[in-house]
Amino acid sequence: MRTESTRCVVVGGGPAGMMAGLLLARQGVEVTVLEKHADFLRDFRGDTVHPSTLELIAELGWIEEFLGLPHSRMHEVTVSIGGRAVTFADFTRLRVRCPYIAFMPQWDVLDFLAGKAAAHPSFRLLRSTEATDLIMEDGRVAGVRAVTADGPLDVRAGLVIGADGRHSTLRGRAGLEPTAGSPPMDVLWFHLPRREGDRVPFFQGGKGALVAIDRGEFWQLAYTIPPGAFAELRQAGLPAFRERVAGLAPALRDRVERIDDWDLVHQLSVRVDRLRRWHRPGLLCIGDAAHAMSPAGGVGINLAVQDAVATANLLGPVLLRAGLPGEADLAAVQARRERATKVTQAFQLGILRDLYPKGAADDTAQHVPPIFTAFRALPPLRHVMGRFIGLGIRPEHIAPLTR
Ligand SMILES: Cc1cc2nc3c(=O)[nH]c(=O)nc-3n(C[C@H](O)[C@H](O)[C@H](O)COP(=O)(O)OP(=O)(O)OC[C@H]3O[C@@H](n4cnc5c(N)ncnc54)[C@H](O)[C@@H]3O)c2cc1C
Repeated sequence: MRTESTRCVVVGGGPAGMMAGLLLARQGVEVTVLEKHADFLRDFRGDTVHPSTLELIAELGWIEEFLGLPHSRMHEVTVSIGGRAVTFADFTRLRVRCPYIAFMPQWDVLDFLAGKAAAHPSFRLLRSTEATDLIMEDGRVAGVRAVTADGPLDVRAGLVIGADGRHSTLRGRAGLEPTAGSPPMDVLWFHLPRREGDRVPFFQGGKGALVAIDRGEFWQLAYTIPPGAFAELRQAGLPAFRERVAGLAPALRDRVERIDDWDLVHQLSVRVDRLRRWHRPGLLCIGDAAHAMSPAGGVGINLAVQDAVATANLLGPVLLRAGLPGEADLAAVQARRERATKVTQAFQLGILRDLYPKGAADDTAQHVPPIFTAFRALPPLRHVMGRFIGLGIRPEHIAPLTR
C-alpha cells in the first residue's frame, strides 16, 4: 500500500473535477485529481460549452486558444415539431464575449483543461486511478483509498472533493443521500455520416425526439424515448426504428440503412437527483455527484463547471492558508450553488420535459406541446430562454488571485 499526502484530492476528472483542480492549482493549492479512466475519450459525454463557460475561459485569458480547437457554433436553438419550427433560445443579445454555444468534443475540452492545469507545479492528475473508499479519522474524511495499475494507493488530504459523476462512489460511502428522482427519459446515442449541405434540425419532435449535433464528418444523434421504452422499440425491429429516424430527419433517409445492428445504438439512462447535503466534514460533492443532471438544455457540464468555480473561489483561500475547510466553509459552497441547481432541474423536468413524447407511441407532431405554441406566440421569450440556458442563474466569475 502506497500513501501520499496532498492538500486537496479531487475524485473524478470530468468537467467539475478538472475545472476545480485547475483553479485550485492556479491559486497555488497542492491538488491531486484522480480519474479512473486512462483518457478522456468517451463518446457519451455531452459536447455543449455554453456562453457561461466560454466567459470563464475568456476571464482566464485562454479564449482564443480554446476556440482554435475544432468546434461548431450555435447562436440560437431551434425546435421543430410537425414541420413547424420555433426559435426556443437566442443567445445573440447576451453581454458576453461569446454569445453562442460551442459544440466541442468533451475530450478536447478536458484535454485543454488538463494541459493548462499541468502548467502549475502544485497540480497532479493520476489517470487509471479509481477511488474506492474514504479514509475516515476522528469522524472526518481524511482522504481516499484508490486502486491503480500499480496496486492500492491511499491519498490523504485536508479536503476531498467528490466530482465522480452521477454514479458517485464517494457520496454513497459518505452516507450522503440523494432525493429520489424519477428518470425523465432514456437516450439512444448513435452516429450517421454527415454530408455538406445536409439540412437536419437541431431538435426535431414527433414519435420520439431527435437531437442532431454536427461533428464535422458525422452527425451525433440522440433519440430520446420515455424511460424503459427501449425494449418495446427493439421488439418493433430495426426497420421500424430506422423509419422513425428518417421520419424525424428526412435528410438522413438515404443513410439510415447504416444502422444495421442494435449494437450501434447505445442506450444511456438519464438520472436526475440532488443531495440534500453536499458535504460532511472533510468532503464536498460537486457537479453530478451532488446533483445529477439530464441532458435537456445541455446545461449539466456548464453547471458542473459553475460549481467548480464557486468551490475554488470559496475554498481556495482557506486551503492556501493551510487551514482545513470547516463545515461552514463547505456549506457556503452548497448555499451558493443550490438554488441554481434546483431551478435548473425544475426547468429540465418541467418546461423541457413537455417537448419530449410521454409514451413510445406518443407523437408530439399530433399533440403539439403547449410550450411550443407559447414560444411561437411570444417570440421575445427566446431571449429570456437564451439567458437562462446560456448563462444560468447566478453565473460565477473567476476570483482574482490573492498572491
Ligand atoms: C445521455 C446524457 C447526455 C448528456 N448530454 C449533455 C450535454 O450535451 N451537455 C451537457 O451540458 N450535459 C449533458 N449531460 C449531463 C452531463 O453529462 C453532466 O451533467 C456532466 O458531465 C457532469 O459533470 P461532472 O464533472 O460532474 O461529472 P462527469 O462528467 O460524470 O465526470 C465524472 C468523472 O469521474 C470519473 N469517475 C467516476 N467515478 C470515479 C472514481 N471512483 N474514481 C475516479 N474517477 C471516477 C469518471 O470517469 C468521469 O470522468 C448529459 C447526460 C446524459 C446522461
